[in-house]
Amino acid sequence: MKITGVKTYVLQATLGEHGFGWSQRVTDRRQSAICVVDTDEGVQGVGEAFYFGGPAEAVAALIDDGLGPLVVGHDPFDTSVLWDRLYNLTRDQGQKGLTISAISAVDIALWDIKGKALGLPVYKLLGGAYRARARAYATGLYEPQGVPSIVAALVEEAVGYREAGFTGMKLKVGYGLETDESYVRAIREAIGDDIALMVDANHAYNASEAIRLARVLADYDVYWFEEPVIPEDIDGYMEVRAASDVLIAGGECEYTRYGFRQLIDCRAVDILQPDLCAAGGFTEVMKIIAMASAASIPVLPHVWGTNVGLAAALQLYAALPHFPERRFAAEPFFEYDRSHHPFRDGVTHEQLSFDSGYLEIPDRPGLGISLDVAYLQKFLA
Ligand SMILES: [Mg+2]
Repeated sequence: MKITGVKTYVLQATLGEHGFGWSQRVTDRRQSAICVVDTDEGVQGVGEAFYFGGPAEAVAALIDDGLGPLVVGHDPFDTSVLWDRLYNLTRDQGQKGLTISAISAVDIALWDIKGKALGLPVYKLLGGAYRARARAYATGLYEPQGVPSIVAALVEEAVGYREAGFTGMKLKVGYGLETDESYVRAIREAIGDDIALMVDANHAYNASEAIRLARVLADYDVYWFEEPVIPEDIDGYMEVRAASDVLIAGGECEYTRYGFRQLIDCRAVDILQPDLCAAGGFTEVMKIIAMASAASIPVLPHVWGTNVGLAAALQLYAALPHFPERRFAAEPFFEYDRSHHPFRDGVTHEQLSFDSGYLEIPDRPGLGISLDVAYLQKFLA
């Protein structure tokens, strides 16, 4: 089998009254870059690149003009060989960020091709499924715009997740310590004590601020504190982790085995969060998982994007080992973004199945999805 072409769809939609904010900015739109890889045997693979802050056109140019010509003519089964080739040929300026997101999308599409060609779900090719369904937590609780009371709107949203069956949810923080505590307090009171509550500062604080917040968070039984400090500040992560009774999570802004090596070697976090669509795709994230498992640091992937990225993440999640293996092993949480997204579900013919707090992991070939190309046309940027 030979790769014959690589093409990327750049999708965009505005959010209108559903615009949302977090510690760094307010957004009024969603964008996605969905990559399709074709082969001479008619098997087509699909992948998605994670990025935030766009423009998605930059990722698409990297995939179509930069990476595509480097893989056309090659065997899509050679995922490790092609990954190393793509990384090495973009290494000089591409070690982190959009270039690795672009490589991730191509790599995911190649694994989709392998699975479809063999009639096997990707998780089988990754070593098998540790689980058949994913315990999902709701990512949402962003800062709503144009509402009379932010706290009231957050509480209503949080109660909605509880009623929908979620056993965990994640709140954005990073607005200042007093504001953060007021949100955490209101939500904890509203949802009760039997639901996991996580918070995410999106690297809004320095280490001393984050330590002060971590001490407050412990009073509300917060499960983990995500991205307390900027991703470059490994020493800051270590200081916060040493001083915090709440678990420290991070890694969505880190890339490849080379980047994660430092986080793992320094034991900078309690929970590593590589994003499949950003950190290097299946080929690279499985290596990151292997490194993390040697240090017994749990990997709970960061997940964001359309049904393409979600379906890929579910395949990875199936193959996620326990950290460590034991008779009654801890089951990981799966990040399920519930914030407003006009085209998240429509891009694929198949829909995810959510019931009683769990997402089913599809056992169809490849990623278990097919693109609805006619639908995509409505959102082309
Ligand atoms: Mg995050």
